[in-house]
Amino acid sequence: MKIKKRILTILIVFAMCIGCLPVYAEDNSTYSDSAETSAPAETSDPVEAFVERLYTNILQRDPDADGLQDWTNVLKSGQEQGARVAQGFIESPEFMSRSLTDTEYLTILYHTFLDREADAAGLAAWQQVLNDGLSRLHVFKGFVESDEFTAICADYGIIRGNASLTAPMDQNEGVTRFIVRCYRLCLGREVDQDGLNSWCSQLLNGANTAKDVAYGFVFSDEFQSKNLSDEDYIKVLYRVFMDREADSAGLSDWLSMMDNGASREDIFNGFADSPEFARLCEEMNLPEPPLRIVLDPGHDDICARNHPDLGFNEQDLNQKIALACRDELMTYEGVQVFLTREDGSCPDNGIGSDDVTGRTAYAASVQGDVFISLHNNASGLGYPSSANGACAFVSVHSGYAEESKALAQSILDELTSSVDLRNLGVMTRTDLSKGRYPDGNVKDFYYLISSSVERGFPGIIIEHAFMDNPHDNALLKNDEQLKAMGIADATGIARYYNLTKR
Ligand SMILES: [Zn+2]
Repeated sequence: MKIKKRILTILIVFAMCIGCLPVYAEDNSTYSDSAETSAPAETSDPVEAFVERLYTNILQRDPDADGLQDWTNVLKSGQEQGARVAQGFIESPEFMSRSLTDTEYLTILYHTFLDREADAAGLAAWQQVLNDGLSRLHVFKGFVESDEFTAICADYGIIRGNASLTAPMDQNEGVTRFIVRCYRLCLGREVDQDGLNSWCSQLLNGANTAKDVAYGFVFSDEFQSKNLSDEDYIKVLYRVFMDREADSAGLSDWLSMMDNGASREDIFNGFADSPEFARLCEEMNLPEPPLRIVLDPGHDDICARNHPDLGFNEQDLNQKIALACRDELMTYEGVQVFLTREDGSCPDNGIGSDDVTGRTAYAASVQGDVFISLHNNASGLGYPSSANGACAFVSVHSGYAEESKALAQSILDELTSSVDLRNLGVMTRTDLSKGRYPDGNVKDFYYLISSSVERGFPGIIIEHAFMDNPHDNALLKNDEQLKAMGIADATGIARYYNLTKR
C-alpha cells in the first residue's frame, strides 16, 4: 500500500471584531500526496523508505540492494539515527566526487531536509555563509538539524538525532569566520584547510587568543614578505581589528606615532587592545580568552627550604599542593594554568636562596592574569610552636588591592573549611625601604607581590599551614591533606572567578 503523507490544512478565520483574537481551525480531513521528493517508495517498511529517499534525493539514483539493507539495519539497530545516516550519504565518496556548484549542493539540501524548493532569500543567505568560508558540512548541519527534518524523520518513525562534525573548522562559526578573515585581510588569499583547522583549534582550546592569532598572521613571514609601507600596514590593521577602512584623521595619528618612534608591534598592540576590537570579538561570538593562572610553588631545590627536623622540605610541600591545584583547575572551563616549576628545578637565576626574580618574570612572559605563590609558614621559634593556621598576603596600596584581597579571602575560606586549618585571614605588609610605586604609594614588602603589581597583574602569597606547629605539621606530612589543600586552593580560585566545571 502506498503510504500517503497527511497534510494539515490550516484554515485561518479572522475575527470580525477588533479586540478578538483570530481563530485558527484545523481541518484534519484533507489528505494529499506530498511532494514527489519525499514520497516513500513502494515499500511497506518506512525505515527502508527513508533510506530510499536519501538515495533518491542525495545520490540521485536507485538504491543498490546491499546499500539499502546496510543503512536500514544501521537505523533499525539504533546504531545511528536519521541525521548521522544522512551525513553518511553527504560524506560518501560517491557524493563528494560530484562536482556540484554551491547552488546545486544547497538545492539538494533543501529537497532532502526541508522537503521544498529553495527560496531566493534563503539560498542567498546560505550562499553567503559558504562565501564567508564556512564548510559545506557546516551548512549541512544547519539543514539536517532543522525542525523540518525532525518532522520528516518522524513521518518515517525515525528519531532525527544530530550530525557529528569533528573538524576544528566546523566547531564554532565565529571562530572559523575570524580565521578566514585573517587569511583574506592579512595574507590576501583563501585558507588552506590544514592551516584553517590548526588556527581554529588553537583559538577553540584557548592556546591562543584572537589577538595571538592576529599576531601570528601579521608577523608571519608571508605577511612580512609583502614589505608594506607604514601606511598600508596601518590600513590592514584597521580592516582586521576595526572591520573598516582607515579614516584620514586616525591614519595620520597612527603614522605620527610611528614617526615618533613607535614600532609596528606597538601599533599592533594599540589596535589589538582597543575597545573596537573587543567589540568585534563579541559580535563575532568568539570564545572569551581563557583566564591565565600562574601558580608558583615557593622555593626549589636550589633556593631550598630544607627542614629535616620537621620531616619535610617546604619546596616539596609547595610543589605537591601546586600540582593538585593545577589538576583541579583543569577541570574548569576557560582556564589555562602555568607553573613556575613542576619539579625541583629553579625558575629563578640561582643567585642565592633569596632570589625570586624569575617567578613573576615568567608569569609576565606567559601573559598571566594572576600570580599565586604557594607556601608554608614557620613561626621561626622552632618545633613545637603554638602558631598555626592559614593566611595570605596581598597588595595594599595598588590597583590590585581589592581583587587580590577578595581572591585570597575566597581561597582561605575554602582552605579552612575543607581542611582542618585555622583561618588567620588576609594580611598586608609594606615597607618604605622597598621604595614607592610610580603613583607614589609605598611598595608592598614582598617582592613577589610588588613585582606582580609592576608587571601588570595581581600577585598573592598563600601560606597554607605552620610547618613547626604539631597540629599543622601532622597535616603537612599527609599527602592526602596536601592534595586537599591544592584542591581547596583551586576551588577558591574558581569561585572568585566564577569558573564553571567542564
Ligand atoms: Zn615559603
